[in-house]
Amino acid sequence: MQLSTLTTTQNMTTSSVTDTGKPVSLLGFGIMRMPKKNAVTQRIDRKTAAEMIDFAIANGVNYFDTAYIYHLGDSESFIGEALKKYPRESFNLATKLPTWLVKSERDVEKFFNRQLEKCQTDYFDFYLVHSLNNDNRKKIDKYNIYEILSRKKAEGKIKNLGFSFHDKPPVLKEIACGYDWDFAQIQLNYLDWELQDARTQYQILRDRGIHVIVMEPVRGGTLATLNPKSAAILKEAAPDKSLASWAIRYAASLPGVLTVLSGMSNLEQVKDNLNTMSPLIPFSEAEYKTVTNALAAYKKSAVIPCTACRYCMPCPMGVDIPGVFAAYNLFCTGGNKFSFSGDYDLLGNEHKAAQCVNCGKCTSHCPQSIKIPDWLGKINTFANSEE
Ligand code: SF4
Ligand code: SF4
Repeated sequence: MQLSTLTTTQNMTTSSVTDTGKPVSLLGFGIMRMPKKNAVTQRIDRKTAAEMIDFAIANGVNYFDTAYIYHLGDSESFIGEALKKYPRESFNLATKLPTWLVKSERDVEKFFNRQLEKCQTDYFDFYLVHSLNNDNRKKIDKYNIYEILSRKKAEGKIKNLGFSFHDKPPVLKEIACGYDWDFAQIQLNYLDWELQDARTQYQILRDRGIHVIVMEPVRGGTLATLNPKSAAILKEAAPDKSLASWAIRYAASLPGVLTVLSGMSNLEQVKDNLNTMSPLIPFSEAEYKTVTNALAAYKKSAVIPCTACRYCMPCPMGVDIPGVFAAYNLFCTGGNKFSFSGDYDLLGNEHKAAQCVNCGKCTSHCPQSIKIPDWLGKINTFANSEE
């Protein structure tokens, strides 16, 4: 479809929320990487960013995802201003409670009311407890977060209550089963399907009947570039399609996915995503195979030839050897230090390379003859360096 022909909302694939019946566009706009006026203050370039929002709305996007901390607080103010000219019932606005900043029950009220004010709205269509993991999930009960937000829902100030998640499946299961959530936001893409076990996370939510919102479908841009070999595989299969479009379609093709968020930074990305989703053509069997081949080529460029066979495990000191190597290999195949740090932290301190005491027990078990303690030493140094 040519983008110039996209002038109505009718081409955008929508799904809907059962509780409210309000349609949700399958492409959601993440307001976290907008063009900036100032790199230090993160202030958003209002004119350019508003053009992107207007273009997205004109072409069917009706879901906007902000958060208290995005753009150091400017994201909520910006999207409030940008959406003001549109009828309130025509769009879905989502924002998030900064869980780690909550120190009392009053804080929950304080943040929520401030967010309504900044976003210039009386209610949020979607409200999330932000970035739950094994640590900060304890705050839900400690500060009655779920009860307070459920009251907001009963008052009509929240239409759908959910959470975003960054941890392992067992933690997700406890959170998903512990409360009555309408939706959950998880990191899901064709690389993390195995690497961070997004498959199990997705299935947990599906089993609980919780709507899935996908974040990081392109893994912070990693899947929009890949490496030359894997990119060539996707390009050969579909010369006219962007690499990002494969990742967006992969996530959007999964049943039960309410919306796929993309943190678009310029109009070209908005147009490319609209092209991909207007309408969505679900993945075919042949395309799943193509992505599997591209992923295999991507992983081959890994520096440490670890196949995750786990013959070296368990390590007596608790090091998650294949997990540490996977995080480092991902960095080496085109990731950045920031994303490495995120992957690495997910392992937990007790499973990181720093625990290795160089006993050598693991090395003889490795069919790839990897000098495991040596690599762990290098990775530990890298993880603690400033580069
Ligand atoms: S050398 Fe390190 S990683 Fe290997 S078994 Fe010993 S402590 Fe664990
Ligand atoms: S035995 Fe070697 S290849 Fe297998 S998981 Fe351990 S380090 Fe990786």
